Amino acid sequence: MRIDRDRMLESIDRLAAVGATPGGGVTRLALSDEDRQGRELVGRLMEEAGLRVRIDDLGNMTGRRDGSGDQPAVVLGSHCDSVRRGGRYDGAYGVLAAIEVARRLNDLAVTTRRPIEVVNWTNEEGVRFEPAMMCSGVVAGRFGRAYVYDRRDLEGKRFEEELRRIGYLGSEGDRPGPAAAYLELHIEQGPVLEAADLAVGVVQGIVGITWSEVTVEGRADHAGPSPMELRRDALAAAAQVISAVEQLARRTPEAVATVGRLTVEPNVINTIPGRVVMSVDVRHGEPATLEALVAELEQVIAALADERGVGIALDRFWTSEATPFAPSVVAAVEDACRELALPSRRLWSGAGHDAKYMAEVCPTAMIFVRSRGGLSHCEEEFSTAEDLAEGADVLLNAAWRLADRAG
Ligand SMILES: [Zn+2]
Repeated sequence: MRIDRDRMLESIDRLAAVGATPGGGVTRLALSDEDRQGRELVGRLMEEAGLRVRIDDLGNMTGRRDGSGDQPAVVLGSHCDSVRRGGRYDGAYGVLAAIEVARRLNDLAVTTRRPIEVVNWTNEEGVRFEPAMMCSGVVAGRFGRAYVYDRRDLEGKRFEEELRRIGYLGSEGDRPGPAAAYLELHIEQGPVLEAADLAVGVVQGIVGITWSEVTVEGRADHAGPSPMELRRDALAAAAQVISAVEQLARRTPEAVATVGRLTVEPNVINTIPGRVVMSVDVRHGEPATLEALVAELEQVIAALADERGVGIALDRFWTSEATPFAPSVVAAVEDACRELALPSRRLWSGAGHDAKYMAEVCPTAMIFVRSRGGLSHCEEEFSTAEDLAEGADVLLNAAWRLADRAG
C-alpha cells in the first residue's frame, strides 16, 4: 500500500499557510490564534477523512476510524504547534501523514480489526507554556491536570484560560485511547539519515540524558614567578577533563558528550586560573552504558586530581532516563520497510517527543524521515517530497499491520 503523495503534500502546504513566516517557516505557538486556525483545518481534514473528532480536557484532538472489533486502538500522533519561526514539517507532518493513512485505507476500502486514532497533541514544543510534551504527559500520568492548567506564558496568561479562549477545552472522557500501540512519524532533526543516505529510520527509543557540573579547584597565582612544576592550574586540569569527556564518548558507540559551558576564575591574562566550573552533558540510549560513562568519567577525574594536585568534584544534578521503544512496534515498522523494499536503519532520538510519554502507556515506536542538513526548529527545515512520501508509506503499512493483528 502507498499513500497518495500529492494529497498529503497539499495538506502540508495548507497547514503551513497557517502562521506562515516570510522565510518559509511557521509560527504556531500553542493555544495562539494561529494554533486555533491550524486546529480548525486539522479538524476539517479529519472529518473529510471520515474520522470522528473528539477534544479532551487538555485540547488534544483525536480523530477515530472504527475497526471491526471493539479492541484498543492503534494511535498515530504528533503535534501541530511550533516554535517561533519554526519549520513547516516538525510535528505537522506526523499528524497530516496519519490523516492520509486514514484516507488511503478508505480509498482501498480496508477495514482493520482495531480502530485507528489520529492525535494532534497540545503543546508539544513547550515554547509558550513549559514544560514540553505536557499534554501527552498528563495522559501518561506524569503530570496532574491542575499543574498543566496553572502553567503561565510570559504575559501571565494561564493555560486553561487560553485553551478555553480558543475553544478547545473538552472533556476528560475524550482523551486518546485506550491504545494498543502508539506510532509517531517525525522528521529526524539530526544528520544521521542524510549521512547514511537513507530516507527512513526506525527509532528504537529516546536517549537518556544526564547533566553534571564539574568544579576544578586549583590555586590562583601570578603567571610570572610561578614555575610550572609548582602550579595548581585549574584550567589546565579542566582541559584534560574536557578531553576525557570527548574521548569517552568517541570510543563508546552511539554515545555523545558535550562540555558546553565553562567559567574560569579569575579569568585574567596574567593569573594562573584558580577555579573552573563546567557543564557536562552525556547521552546514550542504554541506561547501563550511560551509567558506565559517568562512572568512568568519575575515575578519570579522580586520577587527574591526584596527578595535578587539584580538587575536582562532579555533581550530577539532572537525569532524564532513556526510553527504549517496544520491540513489537519497532518490528512492525521494520517489516513495513521490508515490504516496501525500503532500506532503513535503526537510530535513537536525541530529542524528546510525545512518544516518550506514550511509551509508558502502551507499546510505542517512531519513524524518522531524513532532514536536509539535519536542520529543524528553523525556517530552513526541509525534507524532500519523495522522503516524506516514503515515511508516510511506512506509517501506513506499519499501522495496518498493528491494527489488523487480532487480540
Ligand atoms: Zn516535533
